[in-house]
Amino acid sequence: MNGLILIVEDERDLVATLEYALEKEGFRTRSAYTGRQALEIAASEPGPELVLLDLMLPDMSGTQVCQGLRTGERTKNLPVIMMTAKSEEVDRVVGFEVGADDYVVKPFSLRELMLRIRAVLRRKAPNETAAVPSSYGRLRVDMDGHRVWVDDAEVVLTALEFRLLTTLIARRGRVQTRDALLGDVWGVQPGLTTRTVDTHVRRLRKKLGEVADYVQTLRGVGYRFTTDLREREEDL
Ligand code: CA
Repeated sequence: MNGLILIVEDERDLVATLEYALEKEGFRTRSAYTGRQALEIAASEPGPELVLLDLMLPDMSGTQVCQGLRTGERTKNLPVIMMTAKSEEVDRVVGFEVGADDYVVKPFSLRELMLRIRAVLRRKAPNETAAVPSSYGRLRVDMDGHRVWVDDAEVVLTALEFRLLTTLIARRGRVQTRDALLGDVWGVQPGLTTRTVDTHVRRLRKKLGEVADYVQTLRGVGYRFTTDLREREEDL
């Protein structure tokens, strides 16, 4: 998290207002006044964490910039909030065609913009697990491709099992309570009990076969991922 936000907008007054407001909220900013500039800055180091993108730019449209970001290897998952003066554009902008994460319609309040920025950043945060190394003992995990191997044999996991495993891996060494896992892996859904977690952990461990013990049970507490089996609890 570097707190860097890229503002893409050709109206200089609005850029200045946004820079001021964002910096007051603790973000850092870089600004681009054309689409070409935006794509350049977005792909450079340090990369922004989020792009505020105007729909109407002098050299290309915001939708073209967004599509450009989505095809760039380093920018394809970069959160984009589109700024548009036309509310009728909104469906297209946030839909599949353009792939923005959210939008604000001009004129918007700075307070609304801040709320949306924080919400998008929060939603994107779990993807940071992509940054953790991909080998854990005999286990290899491709975070982006959602694939898992034990030694060289691929283990086929459901999306839910994959999320459960990567959530445990992201917090490896630390015990996760069943309630915390329910919230993080399943989200808030009615009718779920902590037994759901137990059931899925059991299935996951079965699929992991020889490395099942990397997912440890701490009886009455929860689960923990570790490849250091000397840490194994007595009460497993
Ligand atoms: Ca504009």
